[in-house]
Amino acid sequence: MVAHVVPSVHTTADPTYQTALRQYDRAVAYLDIPDGLAEFMKWPRRELTVNFPVRLDDGQIQIFTGFRVHHNTVLGPSKGGVRYSTHVNLDEIRALAMWMTWKCALVNLPYGGAKGGVIVDPKAHSMSELANLTRRFTSEIILLIGPNIDIPAPDMGTNAQTMAWMMDTYSMTMGYSVPAVVTGKPLNIGGSMGREEATGRGVIVCMLEALRQYGFNRSPKDISVVVQGFGNVGMNAAKRAYELGFKVVAVSDVSGGYYNPRGLNIRELVDYVNRHPKKQLDGFRGPDRVTNAELLELPCDVLIPAALEGQLTAENAPRVRAKLIVEGANGPTLPEADDIFIERGIPVIPDILANAGGVTVSYFEWVQGLQEFFWDEDEVYRRLERILVRAYDEVVHTMEANNVDMRTAAQITAINRVAQATLTRGFYP
Ligand code: GLU
Repeated sequence: MVAHVVPSVHTTADPTYQTALRQYDRAVAYLDIPDGLAEFMKWPRRELTVNFPVRLDDGQIQIFTGFRVHHNTVLGPSKGGVRYSTHVNLDEIRALAMWMTWKCALVNLPYGGAKGGVIVDPKAHSMSELANLTRRFTSEIILLIGPNIDIPAPDMGTNAQTMAWMMDTYSMTMGYSVPAVVTGKPLNIGGSMGREEATGRGVIVCMLEALRQYGFNRSPKDISVVVQGFGNVGMNAAKRAYELGFKVVAVSDVSGGYYNPRGLNIRELVDYVNRHPKKQLDGFRGPDRVTNAELLELPCDVLIPAALEGQLTAENAPRVRAKLIVEGANGPTLPEADDIFIERGIPVIPDILANAGGVTVSYFEWVQGLQEFFWDEDEVYRRLERILVRAYDEVVHTMEANNVDMRTAAQITAINRVAQATLTRGFYP
C-alpha cells in the first residue's frame, strides 16, 4: 500500500462536494501515481453558468440559472444527467459530475463525467413553461454538448420528455436530427428499451450480488427492503424487488412514507403514483405513515436510499437498523456516516456501482443510435447484468486486495482507470 498525500487545493463549504472530494482523497491515497496527476483528476475540466429568460404562461419573464460541468474527459466524451431542482448549485453539480467520471470508468464505459442542472421546481411549472425553459437552457449550453462532446440524460426532476425537447432544440440548431446528443429519450425518437427501468433494475442486480456475498441465504419473501425515494430510481428498484418476491416494507417520497412490516403492495402504489396529479405517494390509504427520517431507521435487511444526497449522516447512522445499504441515489451517505457503517459492520454498496445501470443503458442507447440498429429488451438487460456483475466482482477484488470498504474500493478501481488512461495519453503539449 502506498500512501500519497494529495495537497488539497480544492476546498468547498458545500456538503455534497465535500463528500465527493473527501471520498476521492481517501481512495487516491492507495494509488501509486504522481501527486500532480492526483490533483488534476480532482478538478472539473470546464464549467459553464448560464442565466436566461423564460416566458411564463401568464406572459411574465422569469430569469433562471443553470449549469453544465465537464469533470473529466480522458476516457471519452463526457456523460451525465441534467437535474431540475431548487437545491441545485454549482458545487453540487461539480460533485455529481465527478461521480459520473468514476461511475463511467468503473463500469468501463468510454465516457468522461459531466452533470448539469437548473435551479427550478419543475412541479411548479406547466408543460409549456418546462418546454420553453428546457429549450432555452439547451441553447445556452449548446457549445458544450454534442454526440461526441457531452451527452446529457435525465436526472432528478427531468425525464424522457425533457430529453426529447433537448434533442429537438439541438437538432433544429444543426439543421438535421441528432438523436445521439442525449440519452433517456422516448422510444419513438431513438430511445432504448429498458432505459427507464435501468437504474432501479441495476440497483437490484447489485443488491442480489451483495446478498450472496454477505451470506443472506433466506428466500426473498423473508428479506425485507426499505426504499427511500419513489422517483425513477426508487420506484423501479421497489418494483423490481417486489417482482422478484422480496418483502418491500416501506417506501417514501417528498410527501412522506408508508410502512407495513408484512410488506407493501408495490404494484398498487405505483398505479396510485402514476394517477396522482403531482405523481406523489401522498393520500394513499392503508399502511402506516412514516416520515423520511423515521423510514431510514426502520428495522430491515436492506435499505435503499434512492432520493437526495446527504441522507445518512453522523446523527442517524448509529440508529440505522438495516443490515445492508445499497445506494440508489448519488451521494446519499456522508463520509462521517460511512465511518460509522464501517465500524458497525454494515456494508454499503456505493452509488457509483449500485446506480450505474442508468448510465450503462444510456451507453447502449447511444451505441444503438449511432449504429441505427436497435436491440430488444432481453438483450439490453442481459448486457446490463453482465457489465454490472463484472464491475461488482472487480470492486470486491480491489476491496480484498487493499483491505478497504466497498466505496473506497470502487473509487480506487475507477480513479486508477482514469489515471492510467491519462498517463497513456500523456499531458498536452
Ligand atoms: N443521471 C443518471 C446518473 O446519475 C444517468 C446519467 C446518464 O445516463 O448519462 O447516473
